[in-house]
Amino acid sequence: MTFAELNLHEDVLAGLDAIGFEKATPIQEIAIPSIIEGKDLIGCAQTGTGKTAAFLLPLMHKICAQKIEDDHINSIIICPTRELAIQIDQQLQGLSYFTGVSSIAIYGGGDGDSFTQEKRALSQGAHIVVGTPGKLISHLNLGYANVKQVQNLVLDEADRMLDMGFLDDIKKIISFLPKKRQNLLFSATMPPKIRSLAKEILTDPKEVNI
Ligand code: AMP
Repeated sequence: MTFAELNLHEDVLAGLDAIGFEKATPIQEIAIPSIIEGKDLIGCAQTGTGKTAAFLLPLMHKICAQKIEDDHINSIIICPTRELAIQIDQQLQGLSYFTGVSSIAIYGGGDGDSFTQEKRALSQGAHIVVGTPGKLISHLNLGYANVKQVQNLVLDEADRMLDMGFLDDIKKIISFLPKKRQNLLFSATMPPKIRSLAKEILTDPKEVNI
């Protein structure tokens, strides 16, 4: 299936064209329409399946279609590591070239300078924030991120986050967010602890297994 057949916004299609993605991968074919429709989603998918674009493209589409301003954060993507946060943000920047969708990546392991830069970027606002749990909490606790209008939450590599002991941090981050929002959870494996997290935070989710 082509991306045009998935009814993505023309600015998102222009980005896909520029980056050279021609056809949607199986997880993208199923996830994109469901996310655009506003449904919560649980995606069981490994790296390499195109899972990152499966959530980035519909988030970008909705920001473009609804002409959402970037003075407030629209979407938060939580992932386990600095490397993954950078990778997701790079893919986002590549795809969003024609869209005006803005993003900030915030991750642990930086120095005081990077914290100051993140604080400045967050106070200016961005459509999408990608971050690791601990660093997100630091900024939320200090009130640097305005999350009152967050509409979408993505948990990427949820199984790895739980293995790394981030469950309480994830719950703490969620406690800052509006109750009414769309939730997407991706995980390579679905052990019982992921099922119970999904049950706690997702509402009537569509399930995709790739
Ligand atoms: P991921 O599973 O998200 O880690 O993606 C794996 C790789 O596939 C990344 O390098 C993406 O840039 C690439 N990719 C994602 N979707 C597509 C697509 N529809 N066509 C070609 N490459 C893609």
